[in-house]
Amino acid sequence: MTKEELWQAVLARIKFQISKANFATWFKNTEIIEQKNGVITISVPNAFSKEWLEQKYSKMILKILHEIDREIKEIKYVIGHTNLKTNDKEKQKTQTLEQSVSDQLDLGEYKINRLTNLNPRYTFDNFVVGPFNEIAHAAATAVTENPGTVYNPLFIYGGVGLGKTHLLQAIGNKIADNFSNKKIKYVPAERLISGIVNSIRNHNIENFKTEYQKIDVLIIDDIQFLAGKEKTQEEFFHLFNYLYERDKQIVLSSDRPPKAITALEERLRSRFEGGMIADIGLPDYETRLAILKTKIKQKRVELPEKILNFIALNIKNNIRELEGALNRVVAYQKLNNRSLDIETIKSLLKNLLNSPKKVITPKQLIRTVAEFYDLKEKDLIAPSRKKKL
Ligand code: ADP
Ligand code: MG
Repeated sequence: MTKEELWQAVLARIKFQISKANFATWFKNTEIIEQKNGVITISVPNAFSKEWLEQKYSKMILKILHEIDREIKEIKYVIGHTNLKTNDKEKQKTQTLEQSVSDQLDLGEYKINRLTNLNPRYTFDNFVVGPFNEIAHAAATAVTENPGTVYNPLFIYGGVGLGKTHLLQAIGNKIADNFSNKKIKYVPAERLISGIVNSIRNHNIENFKTEYQKIDVLIIDDIQFLAGKEKTQEEFFHLFNYLYERDKQIVLSSDRPPKAITALEERLRSRFEGGMIADIGLPDYETRLAILKTKIKQKRVELPEKILNFIALNIKNNIRELEGALNRVVAYQKLNNRSLDIETIKSLLKNLLNSPKKVITPKQLIRTVAEFYDLKEKDLIAPSRKKKL
């Protein structure tokens, strides 16, 4: 077996044991450059990869190597040549790090359950409650105690990155804990739509229905995507009634309240409004800080209070961005092995801080395109199918 074949064999097995993202991050641009006296030398792209492989993956790699070739007893890592400019290298390192920090939570322990589609990483324990989400949280908790009886359906709405998916999945995970015999299913609306479309196309919509009718707790995320999907709406309406009449719990999320979902059949809208509707607003400063503290505890890292304050003060609209900012800072700190000053943090988070989100209207979009291609706006939206247009 050549060095190349050996490394390919090792990689093939590692692939099955870690997440795709981690595999791509840590094993890209690696190779065996020497095999001598039971010592394997692996070339890696940078110092950080080296450190990470040594600390996190060495045992696994050695075990696999040893299984393939009993003679192999030791691994060495060396930093290989790359053609990147220093600046790019730094950038690449930080990006790699950022990804790794956010991936740590998804390492191994967090496997999505194949039956329920639930990700165990979303729990009530790591969901921070503040004035902006306490009603949604209280309703969610009530549902986990008495599924199908108190609030049905439970409809949770709010903007992007504010915790809808987290809360929905936490409901599913908690009910799974409380009631081991209940069949729970979490389904993003897009998947529901493609499931219905495919089963109609393949003439097995009856199977599809039978499967869904067995469910005790049906959780559909981002239900606004049903807008304009008439066939899906019709099927979902019947499924909804079937489950509802049997006291099965239905939980829905959306980026807007039912009455703001246009192109939604009236009968479906009134079903959505028939239970409990709770919104999630924007987190206040205290909650943002509390969320940051929860996250660093989860990641087992430390950051000075003043940096946490700075992030919490400046990133206000989106919890996902809050988390992204934290990951970036943590990554940078790990890389440089020292704590950071506010100026560094500022430049690190530049694109998150100075992003006055410009809203572009369809009108502006049409005008700009028309101008650019030297066309008339009204021709652009006319029904003509001329090639030029
Ligand atoms: P949405 O579905 O509303 O777009 P998510 O549920 O995906 O938002 O949340 C985005 C990120 O923020 C997730 O990583 C989630 O764990 C985290 N998050 C949201 N709300 C909270 C909260 N109240 N406490 C802790 N983490 C939260
Ligand atoms: Mg979501």
